[in-house]
Amino acid sequence: MVSVPVQCPHCQSTEVIKAGKQANGVQRYQCQNGQCERRIFLLHYQHRGRVPEVRHQVVDMALNGSGVRDTARVLRISPTTVIAVLKKSHRAATRQPHVAASSSFTHHPRPCRTRRRAR
Ligand SMILES: [Zn+2]
Repeated sequence: MVSVPVQCPHCQSTEVIKAGKQANGVQRYQCQNGQCERRIFLLHYQHRGRVPEVRHQVVDMALNGSGVRDTARVLRISPTTVIAVLKKSHRAATRQPHVAASSSFTHHPRPCRTRRRAR
């Protein structure tokens, strides 16, 4: 018997556990790396639009000026999948600056100072 280590497609960690099955019976895996933003993944996706590399290419092509239908034709996925990937990646991209913005607010006067004065 040959055992193949399962790697997380996001962080390449091999600390991966089995995480039940899809409705169609395909084994799902879960990444155990706490810093990894990807939790559940499959080894072999049935649908090209779910493969991480293809999704990255969708974003790259959009940044290089390719239209939705260009991207769909070249990557052999449907135009609706291209739109869905771009919407999700936009949400992920706007989530990061929010975290950075909240940490820059620490220089502003805190309400706890006025609370201490009231005592
Ligand atoms: Zn991971």
